[in-house]
Amino acid sequence: MTPTPIPSPNAQQSTPQPSFTPEEVARARADTPGCAKVAHFNNAGAALMPRQVLDASVRHLRLEAEMGGYEAAARAAEDIEGVYDSAARLLNCDRDEIALMDSATRAWDLAFFSVPFRPGDRVLTSMAEYASNFIAYLQAAERHGVRVEVVPNDEHGQISVDALRAAMDERVRLVSLTHVPTNGGLVNPAAEVGKVAREAGALYLLDACQSVGQLAVDVREIGCDMLSTTGRKYLRAPRGTGLLHVRREALDRLVPQVLDLHAATWTAPDRYEVRPDARRFETWEANYAARLGFGAALDHALSWGLPKIQDQVTSLAATLRERLGEIPGVRVHDRGVRRCGITTFTVDGVAAERVASDLAAQGLNVSVSGVSSTRLDMEERGLEEVVRASVHYYNTDEEMTALVRAVRNCARATRP
Ligand SMILES: *Cc1c(COP(=O)(O)O)cnc(C)c1O
Repeated sequence: MTPTPIPSPNAQQSTPQPSFTPEEVARARADTPGCAKVAHFNNAGAALMPRQVLDASVRHLRLEAEMGGYEAAARAAEDIEGVYDSAARLLNCDRDEIALMDSATRAWDLAFFSVPFRPGDRVLTSMAEYASNFIAYLQAAERHGVRVEVVPNDEHGQISVDALRAAMDERVRLVSLTHVPTNGGLVNPAAEVGKVAREAGALYLLDACQSVGQLAVDVREIGCDMLSTTGRKYLRAPRGTGLLHVRREALDRLVPQVLDLHAATWTAPDRYEVRPDARRFETWEANYAARLGFGAALDHALSWGLPKIQDQVTSLAATLRERLGEIPGVRVHDRGVRRCGITTFTVDGVAAERVASDLAAQGLNVSVSGVSSTRLDMEERGLEEVVRASVHYYNTDEEMTALVRAVRNCARATRP
């Protein structure tokens, strides 16, 4: 996998050209039953599953019904183990550095709360943080007396790497960053942050929930100790799937808060041994039908190639952003040196929910992101809520034209 280029801190990155041929888009759509029903621009919420994913999940669920859950798991053992290999290939790590989860939040929380915080420890984070992460920081402050500090943005709206570097000292226990926020096209400079964290000896946790599946994310190149992501968003997997990556060298610096008979072995009445690999963060029970669907989604993404997906998604979103920005009364809100597949906008005088429901009535799926999901960023910009249109590689120019037309009509309705 080609590594993600590190953006120069001062220049807006040039937009890549579309990388899918019309035939490839047609094939992607033919493999996606939902494409015949809706124009789906809610890929940052949950993308449409390809039939390969649907088939893998349904096949296993049927097997469970017909032969019993344990027996079905034994029959599918090789494929179930293969999910770890696929995840490791996607992220460029080893299979024993992967734990499979039921959501990104579960993965992130298990990683975060395993950091052995001491009073006075500093946690450095960014303006783009997701609400669930920030609630956990506040909890850690209450419970462990850690100091949570938000590193300011630079002039492009991404985390200031210079400010981060200046804030580092030996009390910084953790640098915790959101790669792509839930409310916009920003891509934070994760690899540059990784260098700073590594040099200072701090742990580095990356929330890659919105980046994995749309961008080429390489954990070695980024240099993170822990990374969490979900299945249902850009990876196109069933809901209720996700993963945690933990770098081998970081495992012994973390204390898992939940150890069951899968994460550890009860070796004597007064003793237990923790698993040597990242699966110490898992517990025994799992939804194998969903997990196999997750594996099929990982393989599907790998079969296109992540650099290719990244170019297609990034270029479609850039086009959409430009066309929305030309509509009188519409404001596009995405920031950053580098931008991804998420586009956010508002229509003057029309509530975001109203825009979304207008579009939904025309078969156009978008979503709304409100202030309480990313409070620091939204308050700083004076935004209450934004409409979020997130593209995937299966979206077409015709769908984008329909979306732009519908938004134009929405904006026109409120203008004299
Ligand atoms: C969606 C999202 C999450 C939460 O993912 P779940 O799979 O719902 O737990 C975390 N962080 C970011 C940035 C997100 O967009």
